[in-house]
Amino acid sequence: MPNHPSIIARPTHTGFHGRYVTNDGHPADRIPQLLHLYHRAYRHDLDAMLDFLIDQHPAGWSQIGTDPTADCGWINPCPPRGDRGFRCYCHGDRSEPEGLVTEVTADPLWDEWIYVLRPGGITVTAATPDGGAWLKPEFVAWSDGGGPCIAAA
Ligand SMILES: [Zn+2]
Repeated sequence: MPNHPSIIARPTHTGFHGRYVTNDGHPADRIPQLLHLYHRAYRHDLDAMLDFLIDQHPAGWSQIGTDPTADCGWINPCPPRGDRGFRCYCHGDRSEPEGLVTEVTADPLWDEWIYVLRPGGITVTAATPDGGAWLKPEFVAWSDGGGPCIAAA
């Protein structure tokens, strides 16, 4: 079992579409990371942030980092221990096909959290501990993240 699999997505009129992220999807890690990217790396340009996270890396991610300008391709045999950069499945030493995840295909047995990035903030949806269903989404405003920030890798 990967370490807290999750989905990062943009809203659609029916729900969302986004990419799978294998590791570090727990809200204690992911929310500060997304707030950092929004406030620091992308300077509140949500469209550019979504373009990077979803459109430019269609195969999805092993892990999300803090510096989108650094090399974000996969490294064989695997990223070095302690690597905190972006590592995708479509660049570098891997070239996997597009993986689209939607409100129809997301699976609470496998995906533990869904993060939908909206103009006002992030909708966070958790799976039940037994993976049997999705819980009611909670909302984290972008403005909640103006304070402490994780350091760049
Ligand atoms: Zn990629």
